[in-house]
Amino acid sequence: MRSRAPMSTPTLPAPSLPAPPRRWLWWTMLVALIAVAQTWLVWLTMDFQASRQQQRVDAITAELAAQLRHRLFIDTQRLAALADSRQSPADWRREAASLLLSQRELLRVERRDASLNIVSALDNPLHKPLFSVLPRDQLDFATQSACGAARRAGEPQYSQSYFVPLGNGLGEEVMDLCAAQVTNAHLTGYLVGSISLGALLESVESPELARNHEISFVEGDGTRIVRTGSPHGAGVFVADRVVGVPGHSLQLHVDSASGRPGVIPNLSTALVLGLSLLLFGVALVLAHDMRRRSRAERALGESLAFRKAMEDSVLAGLRARDMQGRVTFANQAFCDMVGYAPSQLLGRGEERYWPEPAVAGERVGSQGQETEFVSSSGRRFPVMLHESPLLDAEGRQTGWICTALDLSAQRRIEDMSRRQQERLQATARLATVGEMASLLSHELNQPLAAISSFATGSINLMNDALARTEPALLLQAMERIAEQSERAGRIIRSVQDFVRRREHERLPIGADLLVEAILPLVRMQARRSAARVEVHMAQPVPRVLCDRTMIEQVLINLARNGIQAMAPCPQGPEPLLRIEARPLGAGLVEFAVVDRGPGVPDEVRAQIFTPFFTTREEGMGLGLSLCRTVIEQHGGSLDFDNLRDADGRVVGARFRFTLPVAQRGRAAPPAGEELHA
Ligand code: ADP
Repeated sequence: MRSRAPMSTPTLPAPSLPAPPRRWLWWTMLVALIAVAQTWLVWLTMDFQASRQQQRVDAITAELAAQLRHRLFIDTQRLAALADSRQSPADWRREAASLLLSQRELLRVERRDASLNIVSALDNPLHKPLFSVLPRDQLDFATQSACGAARRAGEPQYSQSYFVPLGNGLGEEVMDLCAAQVTNAHLTGYLVGSISLGALLESVESPELARNHEISFVEGDGTRIVRTGSPHGAGVFVADRVVGVPGHSLQLHVDSASGRPGVIPNLSTALVLGLSLLLFGVALVLAHDMRRRSRAERALGESLAFRKAMEDSVLAGLRARDMQGRVTFANQAFCDMVGYAPSQLLGRGEERYWPEPAVAGERVGSQGQETEFVSSSGRRFPVMLHESPLLDAEGRQTGWICTALDLSAQRRIEDMSRRQQERLQATARLATVGEMASLLSHELNQPLAAISSFATGSINLMNDALARTEPALLLQAMERIAEQSERAGRIIRSVQDFVRRREHERLPIGADLLVEAILPLVRMQARRSAARVEVHMAQPVPRVLCDRTMIEQVLINLARNGIQAMAPCPQGPEPLLRIEARPLGAGLVEFAVVDRGPGVPDEVRAQIFTPFFTTREEGMGLGLSLCRTVIEQHGGSLDFDNLRDADGRVVGARFRFTLPVAQRGRAAPPAGEELHA
C-alpha cells in the first residue's frame, strides 16, 4: 500500500458551485466600458486628424490668396507703367513684349484710344493668340465696362472673367485689367491686359500643392471657373477665400485630395485599436484565469475541509514522519491517544510516546506490528501499527505514514470473553461430574466395601491373634486396606483434578499423558456400559502444544458422548471406544474418539455444534460446542463422520480434532504400544 504526499487526500469531483450573483453584471459593464473607451479613442484620433487636415487646407488657401493678391498687384503695377501715353509706339511694343514674357499669366496687351478702339495689340508669344477663334469685338463687353469703371475710379480696374474659346473644345477663362491713360487731365486712351485665370493659378501653386490639392476659382454659386492641380478634390477638406482686386473679386477654392481619415489604414488609429483589442484580450484571459483559479480554490477548499473532517473523525491515529524520523503530521485521534498536543509532537522524534528506543523511528511495515505506546500520563497501552511510504507528486519518497490503533478496548473484551469461557468450562466440568455422581458413588463403594471387609477381617484376625498369632495374614489384610484406600483416594483426586484445574498455559505435552489422565474417568463410565476402551498411540508418541486441562475436557466429553451413544443398543456389537492419536503432517497431530454407536443422524448433523442442542433428556447440549471452541482456540479443527461397514450401514461415529505439534523438546516416555481397559 503506498500513499501520496503530503497526505493522501480524497479526490472529490470539483463542485459546480453557482457563480456569485451579479458577477455577470460586472463583466457586462467592463466589456461595455472597454467598448466605449475604445470607440471614443478611435473617434478622438480620427477627429484630431480631420481637424489637422482642415487646418492645413485653411492655411494653404490663405497663403495662396495672399500670393494671388501679390501677383495681381504686380500685374496691375506693370500694366499701369505700360499705360504711360508718352511712349512711342515702338517703345511701347518692346516693353509690352518684355512684360508678356515676364508675366506668363498675361496673354495679351492692347492699347486703345479714348473710344476704346484697339490701337495696337500684342499677344503673348508663348500662348496661342487669344482671339483667333472669335474676334475681339464679340468678347468686348466686360472689357469695356471695366474701362468705364477705370475711367471713373481713376485707377486700373479688373473686368468680370469670361471664356475665350480657342478651338477644339478648348478655351481660356480670362479677366481683363483696364487702365485709363490720362494726359493733362484728359483721357487719351486705355491699356487693356488680358490675364488667364488658369495661368494665374499655376503661377502661385507649388508642385507639392498641386499633387495633393485641387485649386480653383469658383463663382458665387460654387460653379468652378478654372481649376488646377492634378487630382480632383475629395470634397471633404475644403476652404474658400475671396481674393479682392479693384473692380472685381475672385473666389479661391481649395479642395484637399484626401478624404476622411479611414479607420484601419490610419496608423495611430490602428495602434490604438490594436492596443485596445490587446487590452480586451488580456482582460478576457485574466477573467478566464480568475474563473479557473477561483473554481480550483473552491475545489481545494472543499477538498481540504473534507480531509480535515476525515482526519478529525477517523478513529485510528494517523501520523506521518519524514526521512529523518521527525513527526510531520499527527491527527486529532493520534494526539488524543498519546495525550500530547500537535505542537508537542511535530518536528520531534517518536521517543515521547514510544518507550522502546530501539524500535522508535524504525520502519514498521504495511503488514502491521503490535507494540506498546506510553501516553503523556504514563499509561502504557497496546497499539497496532501499519506503515507505508509517503510519496510526493514525482513519486519520490518523502517519509512514512502510519496508522495506529489503540488495542486496549479489544484486549479488555478478549480478557472478559476468556474469563467467561473459563467459567463456562468450569460449569461444564461440574455438570459432567454431577452426571457421574452415581457412577462415583458406585466406584467408591467398591474400595470402601473392600476396606470395610478387610477391616472386619483384620479385627477378627486380631481377636484370633489373642488366641494364636497369624501376623502374616494380618499384614496382608492391612495392605489390602491401604491399597483400597489409595484407590478410593485416586478416584476422588482424579475428579478433583478435573474440576479444579486452573492453569491455562499452553505447554508441550505428550499425547499419551493427555489420554492417560482421562482414562480413569473414562473407564469408570465405560464399565457402567460394559464397554471396552482402547487406546491407539502412534510411535514415537507425538507431542502437542496445548492447554492440558481444556484438551482433557474435550477428550472426556467426546469419550463420554461415545459411551452414551453405545449404551442404548445392548444387542448390537460389543461396545468399544477407541481413542487414537497420530501425527498428521503439516505440524498437526490428530486425535480421534471412535465409538460403535448408531452414528450421528442426518437431522442432528446440522445442529450438533449449536450450544444447548441435545437429544438426551439429561443432556445440556454444551459439550460439543465447547469442544469446538477450545480446539479452534488452539488453532485446530473439530469434525466428525459416521463409520460404515461394507454394506454401507452405519456402524459408529468418529469425532476427530487436530492440535499443533510441539516443535521443540522431547516426547514423553512411551506409554506402551496399546493400552487396554
Ligand atoms: P449433550 O451430550 O449434553 O447432549 P453434546 O453437545 O455433547 O451435548 O452433544 C450434542 C448431541 O450430539 C447429543 O445430544 C447427541 O445427539 C449427539 N452426539 C454427540 N456425540 C455423539 C456420538 N458419538 N454418536 C451419536 N450422536 C452423538
